[in-house]
Amino acid sequence: MAHVVFLPYTMNSHITPIVHIARLFAFYGGFKITIITTPKNALLFQSSVDKDCLELGSKISVKKIKFPADEAGLPDGVENIIASPSMEIVGKVCYGFTLLQKPMEQLIRQLNPQCIVSDMFFPWTVDLAEELKIPRYSFQPANFIHQCAWHFLKGYTPHMKVASDSERFLIPGLPHEIKMKRSEIEDFLIEETGFSPMVNENLEAELRSYGIIHNTCSELEPGYAEVYEKVRGRKGWHIGPLSLFINKLECVKSSKEISNSNSSSETWKGYSDCLNWLEKQEPNSVLYVNFGSMVRFSNDQLREIALALEATNCPFIWVVREQEKNQEDGENDHSDWWPNDLKENIVKKNKKGLIIQGWAPQVLILKHRAIGGFLTHCGWNSILEALTVGVPLITWPLFSENFYSEKLLEQLGLGIGVGADVWNSGFIVSSPVVPKEKLEVAVKCLMCDSKKSREIRANAKLMAQKLKGATEEGGSSHLQLIALIEEIKRCAFKNSS
Ligand code: UDP
Repeated sequence: MAHVVFLPYTMNSHITPIVHIARLFAFYGGFKITIITTPKNALLFQSSVDKDCLELGSKISVKKIKFPADEAGLPDGVENIIASPSMEIVGKVCYGFTLLQKPMEQLIRQLNPQCIVSDMFFPWTVDLAEELKIPRYSFQPANFIHQCAWHFLKGYTPHMKVASDSERFLIPGLPHEIKMKRSEIEDFLIEETGFSPMVNENLEAELRSYGIIHNTCSELEPGYAEVYEKVRGRKGWHIGPLSLFINKLECVKSSKEISNSNSSSETWKGYSDCLNWLEKQEPNSVLYVNFGSMVRFSNDQLREIALALEATNCPFIWVVREQEKNQEDGENDHSDWWPNDLKENIVKKNKKGLIIQGWAPQVLILKHRAIGGFLTHCGWNSILEALTVGVPLITWPLFSENFYSEKLLEQLGLGIGVGADVWNSGFIVSSPVVPKEKLEVAVKCLMCDSKKSREIRANAKLMAQKLKGATEEGGSSHLQLIALIEEIKRCAFKNSS
C-alpha cells in the first residue's frame, strides 16, 4: 500500500480542498495517508477523517506539529489566517509556517512515504521529494485560467503596452477572448514587489513538480488544462469539484448506517435561526452575500453595501466579518457604519434580511432552495460551492486571482459584475469604494425577473448538472482522479522494485 503524505497550508480555503483529496486518495486509491499540520488547523478536519477511518476503513492519520507561536510573535492558538485581523498577523502566521520546514522535513524523512502532495506554498517539498526520489504534486487551490494568464502576461507583457491602467488589453493564448485592465492584475506582474521572490520560488517549484492538482474541471475551464500543459510542460490534473466526490463518500457512509451522527445537522444546530428564516422565503428569492474567509472592508464600503441591500428590497443573508481593531484601521470605530434603517426596519421589523456576524455555514446556506444569487469576491471555493448547486453569481473581485475568475464567469454567462476594477494587494480592501448605486444595479439585474437574469439562472443550473456529470463514473474529473491514483501507484511500485 503506497503511503502518501499531505501538507496543507494555513488557510481554510487551502486546507479544505487538499484534505478532500487526501480522503479521496484513501477511499478510491486505498493509500495510507498522513496529513501533517498544526494542532489548531487539525481541528478543522480531524472529525471527518476519523469518521472515514471508522466508517469507510480509510487509513488516514493526522500528525500534529506544534506551531512556534513564541518565535512567530503570536499568542497561543493563532495558527490560521482566518483568525488574523491584520496583514501584520498574517505575516507572522506565514513566518511561523516557514519555521515548521525543519520539523516537517524531519517527520517526512522518518515516515519515508512514496509520494508527497504539498500545498503550493511549501516550495521546499520539491527538494525533499528529489532527495527521497519520490513524486511531489503541487496542490493549487485556484484555477488554470490564472496560471495560464500569468504565463502569457509574463511572456508577452500586453499590460505594459497600454497607455493607462484602465485601458483594456487582450491576454493572448487563452481559450476565451479575455480582456483585462492593468488595474485588475497583480502588482508583482507589473513591477518587483516584496512578494516577487516568493512568487518566483513557487513558480520554480511548480516546474520541478511531478504534476499540479486543481480543484476544477474541463466543464468549467474548457481547454485551459490543455493550454497549461502545453505552455508549462507540466501535467495539470483537474479533479473537481472535490466536494461532489466527498458527497459520494458521505452517501456511502450513510448507506452503511454505522453511525447515526450527521455532521451537517450538527453544524446546523447553531444556525437554526438562519434555517428557519430561509424556510420562510420563496424559492430563488434570497441574495447571499459573503466575501470569503479573509476580506475586510472599510466602514465606508460596508455602509454602501448596507444601503444597496436596503434599496434593492431583495431578501438577503449578509455575512459580515467581525470588525476587529487592527493596525491598518486601528483608530476606526466599527459600530457607526450601519444605516439605522437596515437593522431596525429591514432586519428586525420587516424581517427582509439576516445578518450573520462571523462565520456562516456557507455550503449549507447555498444549497437551500431559497437562495437565488450569491454576491461574491470570486474566491475559487465560493464559486465552486455556488455552481455545484446551480446558484448564479454577482461578481465583485477583490484580490489574489479573483479577477481572472470573474472574467471566466463572464465568458460562461454565469455572473454579473458590480464593476470593480482595482486589484488589492491583500485582503484588507483599499480599492475605491463601490457605490450603492452600482451594487443596486447588479443585484436588481440578477434578482429581478428579466431575460438576462433568466438566461444566467438557466446557465447556472446547466453548469450544476455538468459539474455533477464530471464527477460521475466516466466523467472528466472522475477519469482524471482514477488516472492520477494509478500514476501514483505505478510510481510507488517502480520505486519499490
Ligand atoms: N467560508 C464559510 N463561511 C464563511 C466564509 C467563508 O464557510 O462565513 C468558506 C467558504 O465556504 C469557502 C472558503 O471559506 O470554502 C472561502 O474560500 P474562497 O476560495 O471562496 O475565498 P478566500 O477565503 O480564499 O478568499
